[in-house]
Amino acid sequence: MIRFQQVSKAYRGGRQALQKVDFHLQPAEMAFLTGHSGAGKSTLLKLICAIERPSDGKIMFNGHDITRLDNKQIPFLRRNIGIIFQDHKLLMDRSIYDNVAMPLRVEEVSENDIKRRVSAALDKVGLLDKARCLPVQLSGGEQQRVGIARAIVNKPLMLLADEPTGNLDAALSQQIMNLFEEFNRVGVTVLMATHDTSLLSTRNYRRLDLYQGQLREIPYGA
Ligand code: ADP
Ligand code: ADP
Repeated sequence: MIRFQQVSKAYRGGRQALQKVDFHLQPAEMAFLTGHSGAGKSTLLKLICAIERPSDGKIMFNGHDITRLDNKQIPFLRRNIGIIFQDHKLLMDRSIYDNVAMPLRVEEVSENDIKRRVSAALDKVGLLDKARCLPVQLSGGEQQRVGIARAIVNKPLMLLADEPTGNLDAALSQQIMNLFEEFNRVGVTVLMATHDTSLLSTRNYRRLDLYQGQLREIPYGA
């Protein structure tokens, strides 16, 4: 699904965020991306959805070289990727329904299809009854589930999550994790950046660990 080959990223000003990173994820795999703050986790996720471009190396996504996409091709890549952020980045002046519909409106999907797909996505995260609410009327855990519904409404091949449980207590974190596992079970590839050690200790997935921009794999059970 995704392959990094000797990928490096230096930001302007010379900060080396990633150094010769190699890894691949098979379709329908699920893995954690771990590492200290500043290790390069967000940078790695941003490279996958072409928010940032690598300085060196090659990135393959679903059989396509995405290293040098031109701006016109980026929406086609992003259509296949759902992204979830720690702070969920919901539009606070729009209803839950409209927040989840956003990726479909960008694609000019018909209102009938939007209605069907938003309802299905909200149903999957257990928030169908909140469709007309504003984000402030929801709890933190519910807001994060709206972020997940928005990320999956397009039926992406891959879900990227950047510290999705960072603001949630242990019970809510488990609930969010269960949702990712449900999508993974139906074939979605999942890469989740986290340094939530209690969450890591309850789940035995591949762990890609970044240390100062260098990636190594931590074996199961370590
Ligand atoms: P993490 O997500 O693991 O905390 P990041 O990928 O955000 O790590 O950051 C990796 C390194 O790159 C850090 O040293 C950070 O300061 C630097 N960095 C991140 N984004 C930028 C940017 N836009 N410009 C310059 N440096 C950046
Ligand atoms: P349909 O096939 O009619 O579009 P589904 O019930 O299969 O309806 O899916 C409806 C919603 O469920 C989608 O919009 C999406 O949010 C979610 N969904 C279904 N399958 C997947 C999948 N494989 N990956 C992610 N989300 C999915």
